[in-house]
Amino acid sequence: TTTIGVLALQGDVREHVHALEAAGARAVPVRRTRELEAVDGLVLPGGESTTIDKLLRIFELRDPVRDAIGAGLPVYGSCAGMILLADRIEGGIEDQQTLGGLDVTVRRNAFGRQVDSFEVDLALDGVDDGPVRSVFIRAPWVEQAGPDVQVLARIPDRTVAGAGVGEAAGKIVAVRSGRLLATAFHPEVTGDWRVHALFVRLVTEARRSQSGHVRSL
Ligand code: GLN
Repeated sequence: TTTIGVLALQGDVREHVHALEAAGARAVPVRRTRELEAVDGLVLPGGESTTIDKLLRIFELRDPVRDAIGAGLPVYGSCAGMILLADRIEGGIEDQQTLGGLDVTVRRNAFGRQVDSFEVDLALDGVDDGPVRSVFIRAPWVEQAGPDVQVLARIPDRTVAGAGVGEAAGKIVAVRSGRLLATAFHPEVTGDWRVHALFVRLVTEARRSQSGHVRSL
């Protein structure tokens, strides 16, 4: 079976473990390099990107995770995890670093105070059978995406009605680039596992092409 790690330094680790298992993968928490080396894919959970960034450095996991991303490890980042995957960040705290890998600029806490949290149904490219209920909790959005980044979802025009954030309409909130997937929202808390299933498929395909490659050597 496909084994997917969930970076377990801070954030909603248990929810992702549950969602991944519901989507058919084996899910394990990752806190050490050794654990990282044993997974076929990795989830960066929601939480607080500034805290996760600090803990990555304290646990000496920052370089190993960056190297793994560079070597083609499939990674899915949700909310704080999306921030961590971004090459560039706006609204970060002083000294905040990201892991990078995804050619996007994210704006942290982009939706502003009134709409710290809201839910909306989003049509997601690559996810069939109707829109995905999407939960945004002090979420970022993608301010700018590079040419190789595939936009999977944007905030629809009429969302967050009454919240006074017309600015949010059209903002990019789900992207994919190669083996990296990121959503500004939290599919792990809704009971709808289609986004995790999409990631499990991506990991399984990557694993297959990897072993195909080894076999052909
Ligand atoms: N605002 C948080 C951050 O900057 C992200 C919130 C979340 O993951 N729900 O990391």
